Amino acid sequence: MRKGKTFIICGPSGVGKGTVVAKLLANDPTLYFSVSATTREPRPGEVDGKHYHFLSHEQFQQWVEEDAFLEHAEFVGNCYGTPKMYIDKAMDQGRDVILDIEIQGAEQVHQKRPDAVRIYIAPPSWEELERRLIGRGTENIEKVRSRLARGKEEFLVARDFDYFVINDTVDRAVEEISAIMCAEHCRPDQRIEMIQCGSPD
Ligand code: ADP
Ligand code: 5GP
Repeated sequence: MRKGKTFIICGPSGVGKGTVVAKLLANDPTLYFSVSATTREPRPGEVDGKHYHFLSHEQFQQWVEEDAFLEHAEFVGNCYGTPKMYIDKAMDQGRDVILDIEIQGAEQVHQKRPDAVRIYIAPPSWEELERRLIGRGTENIEKVRSRLARGKEEFLVARDFDYFVINDTVDRAVEEISAIMCAEHCRPDQRIEMIQCGSPD
């Protein structure tokens, strides 16, 4: 049986990570989406346990002390973290794991799990990113500005990623990410153990 792989999806706030990930999950129900914990307030329509585990600062700190996170980081005034409990279990079951996390978290996961594949999602332009972020209507203008500034800072390390996908249309971005996931499973280290040829004489 093939082993699952972890795919890290990173990119500026408002670029469309959540939208693209939702479509990937709808296309492939075997994918495992890692539900993060956060201290941010839920947005309208966000469901506790599905989109995030919404925690108080005290609860978040307790999870940190209990070593419950694979990684955690602060992002524009809130804390975010990846619970580690279910990730290995999902991969052992052959499921691919998707992490939608920011850059500091991606770096921590890269240090601990160098085989995790890092995919950076970019907007077609900064103007379009601003339009999307404002259009989503979930943050006030001050927070929008902080998120845009943070996105531009993070862009400086985008070159270090394994893949770079431009979210021009959602369908194309989903297609490219699916192709990346497929290609990563065709690497020799993933495939050789699956055949029974033994060593050539
Ligand atoms: P993120 O999770 O990266 O913060 P979202 O998925 O919440 O971003 O998307 C931000 C906004 O941009 C949403 O209103 C979403 O509908 C819109 N959006 C996402 N992808 C596209 C796209 N390819 N073209 C136009 N709008 C998009
Ligand atoms: P939002 O508040 O828009 O849902 O997320 C803000 C940022 O936090 C996004 O860049 C998102 O990828 C990131 N994020 C979400 N969950 C996690 C997590 O568990 N860890 C880290 N480091 N970042 C996260």
